[in-house]
Amino acid sequence: MTQDHTEALWRDFPSDWQEFETRFPDEEACRLYLIECRWNGKPRCAKCDGTKVWALRDGTLFECVKPSCRHQTSLTSGTLFHGTRKPLKVWFRVIFELCVHRHGVSSADIQRIFGFGSYSTAWHWMHKIKRAMRRKHPDKLRGCTHLDEALIGGVGHEKEIVVVAAEEGGRVRMIHAPGNHAEALKVVVDSEIGEKTKVKTDGHAGYNKTSLAGRKHDAKVQTKQEKQKNDHLQLMQWMASNVKRWLLGTHHGGVQPKHLQSYLDEFSFRHNRRKTKGVARIVARCLENIVAQEPLTKRQLIDCTHECRYFQYESY
Ligand SMILES: [Zn+2]
Repeated sequence: MTQDHTEALWRDFPSDWQEFETRFPDEEACRLYLIECRWNGKPRCAKCDGTKVWALRDGTLFECVKPSCRHQTSLTSGTLFHGTRKPLKVWFRVIFELCVHRHGVSSADIQRIFGFGSYSTAWHWMHKIKRAMRRKHPDKLRGCTHLDEALIGGVGHEKEIVVVAAEEGGRVRMIHAPGNHAEALKVVVDSEIGEKTKVKTDGHAGYNKTSLAGRKHDAKVQTKQEKQKNDHLQLMQWMASNVKRWLLGTHHGGVQPKHLQSYLDEFSFRHNRRKTKGVARIVARCLENIVAQEPLTKRQLIDCTHECRYFQYESY
């Protein structure tokens, strides 16, 4: 998918519920959209990348015409929709719910609204969609970026460290980190913050030459009184308390540490699109990532998801 094509799809995307319902009334409309989104409208063979394919099974399966290949590629294979037996129409609507509500929705809400037989199915769907709420290779933050750590967790739980990075008046990233020492902070800085970006912190010892790797540093140690008057990192305090309230409110504090990162990605995704003109267009961003990300099975989700996953699996 080219950048231009992605932007064109975004511009033409419905902007509210009414337009969304009109545009995607049935399976066929969703199928055609996904073909646009995944292949610029022209299905390709997943094995040899050939563009000559036969459409089978109502255009949800494509067979390569090359006699030496003959591979069959399904519309959803290799994407986060991999293996789904539910209609795309239902998927589109669940994604809509998760994207447009300011405080998101819980898996229990989705089970109730869509009449899913089990909570576990709704939970699995929600996690697939959360996975599509962060790009595979996100752009780095630019401009003056604030950096701080928040402690998240409830009574009786260990507190989890979350590093919050936010552009002044712009985008935010939250990363569940194994500690607040320089080595951990360096991983977050390298992966999320542009090299020429100025970083504003509270002067905590972990923010040093190693972790900031040459980035300009505005460190200000403030007393409690000074903070009350004019907090240097007010934005960060605000983000941290919002994410805590959201975890306790929408999700009743029931998030396991190993899944915390997914919730942080979801929160950031919506926050970063809070000024989107035409709220339904946020769905377009999610669908882009659905076709770009690898499949996520329930087993992978339960058995192979680890705490602080950006420290173990990403390419840094
Ligand atoms: Zn082929």
